[in-house]
Amino acid sequence: MQQLETDYLVIGTGAIGMTFVDTMLDETDATFIMVDRHHMPGGHWNDAYPFVRLHQPSAFYGVASTELGSNRIDETGSNQGYYELASGPEISAYFEKLMRERFLPTGRVQYFPMCNYEGNKTFQSLLSGKQYTVKVNKKIVDATFFNTTVPSMHKRSFEVATEITCIPPNDLPRIAVNHKRFTVLGGGKTSMDTCVWLLDNGADPDSITWVCPRDSWVMNRKSTQPGVDFFETTVGGFADNLDAMRDAASVEDLFLRMEASETMLRVDQTVTPTMFHYATLSAGELEQLRRIKNVVRGQRVERIEAGQMVMTNGEAVPANEQTLYIDCTARAVVLEEDEPTKTVFQGDLITLQVVFAPLLTYSAAVIAYVEANFETDKEKNSLCTPVQLADTPAEWMPSTLGNMWNSFNWSQNKELRRWTDQCRLNPNAAAIREGAGKEPAHKELIGRIRQNSMPAMMNVQKLIAESNSS
Ligand SMILES: Cc1cc2nc3c(=O)[nH]c(=O)nc-3n(C[C@H](O)[C@H](O)[C@H](O)COP(=O)(O)OP(=O)(O)OC[C@H]3O[C@@H](n4cnc5c(N)ncnc54)[C@H](O)[C@@H]3O)c2cc1C
Repeated sequence: MQQLETDYLVIGTGAIGMTFVDTMLDETDATFIMVDRHHMPGGHWNDAYPFVRLHQPSAFYGVASTELGSNRIDETGSNQGYYELASGPEISAYFEKLMRERFLPTGRVQYFPMCNYEGNKTFQSLLSGKQYTVKVNKKIVDATFFNTTVPSMHKRSFEVATEITCIPPNDLPRIAVNHKRFTVLGGGKTSMDTCVWLLDNGADPDSITWVCPRDSWVMNRKSTQPGVDFFETTVGGFADNLDAMRDAASVEDLFLRMEASETMLRVDQTVTPTMFHYATLSAGELEQLRRIKNVVRGQRVERIEAGQMVMTNGEAVPANEQTLYIDCTARAVVLEEDEPTKTVFQGDLITLQVVFAPLLTYSAAVIAYVEANFETDKEKNSLCTPVQLADTPAEWMPSTLGNMWNSFNWSQNKELRRWTDQCRLNPNAAAIREGAGKEPAHKELIGRIRQNSMPAMMNVQKLIAESNSS
């Protein structure tokens, strides 16, 4: 067993572990050991399907110190007119380069890829079996809390007969050419990306069946853009959401109001969605998805056999025997049901979580800044209340209140406010930097936000209480 020593032992070199260390390198003189089972930093992005892209603009994803992409606006495709969205390979390359060119040259980071952390400050090489034990002078940082799974990693919850071809989307570009009919399984963003990929690449909409157990409300990409040019759709979108929060009589009414102001979208306007996972679509992607008419709603697949899918309610849905099934049923984030959030700072343990949903990397950077610049756990936790990621439309409400509460607390500390205002991961930082807020239209929006925040929060608390008691 080899003995090592460090200030911080970081488990996981996915996006949040990397972002935490990046900010800590700037804010402290500490040393770090980073351990991960993967061969490269970037976590699940290394296992992603080839046509994956960020939901949000690259402009405010990644670590705080280093731009991801080149801040350009796409001129073609379904993201036309909006800030670029990094692909999976771009994100993996970005984190790999950060490790090689920024972290390791400081001499303060030791990186152990292909190693499994086994608890109790020990880890083991997955290749040689060599064991390491670490003397941790300050803290252990758990950057594995979200347990992110992607289709290529997960275990299917349904049976597939041997003569059926059922693949993760990772294999789709290679295998699609051998098939004329496609069934996409799952209702989340991966299934939406897969349907859009098939249509963008020329598949006939009638050749696609979409098994969508739950319809989803999705965020409109036009209201998630950074910078002064999008101030009226992004900050204006937030102002519209506050109006909806202030006036809504129920969760359903809240989402209908947000749909009316175009901050929320749904594929089929005759269906009331029961899921909300922060998926984001542009109007172009939505139009593509609406071309698919064979949608099997409200049920999950239990078994796929030659000529039919047997659903969990026992119903048999006929299927063409040549169909290619694409399994998009992995839940990206798998939280413990009995412990969906944890206190972030607990003695010698930091558990990285979301403190501004759904922005995981901004959250990890804020937690690092707070760790570096505040003294007691009490003070640190008061600035980093975990925000639970939503699964349903009703859960959008506490998650949005959590964001508002944390942002308000950050704004009350002069130094923290100065830092968040310039942090590239803060979606509003670009607009602040570009001098937004001075024009009369901007002032009017800011005024509306100030005026409506409190009534909106109060009404939403009432709706949360009602939805908890029903
Ligand atoms: C398709 C897709 C699109 C997304 N788009 C966005 C987006 O636009 N914006 C956004 O904010 N978020 C997005 N997300 C959410 C995304 O999950 C996060 O952005 C982020 O990449 C998650 O990083 P992580 O570090 O929490 O997890 P992971 O990437 O899972 O990293 C955790 C790491 O910990 C390692 N690990 C776990 N246990 C151990 C152990 N015992 N020993 C050693 N190593 C261990 C794993 O090997 C892994 O590398 C998206 C997610 C998906 C699936």
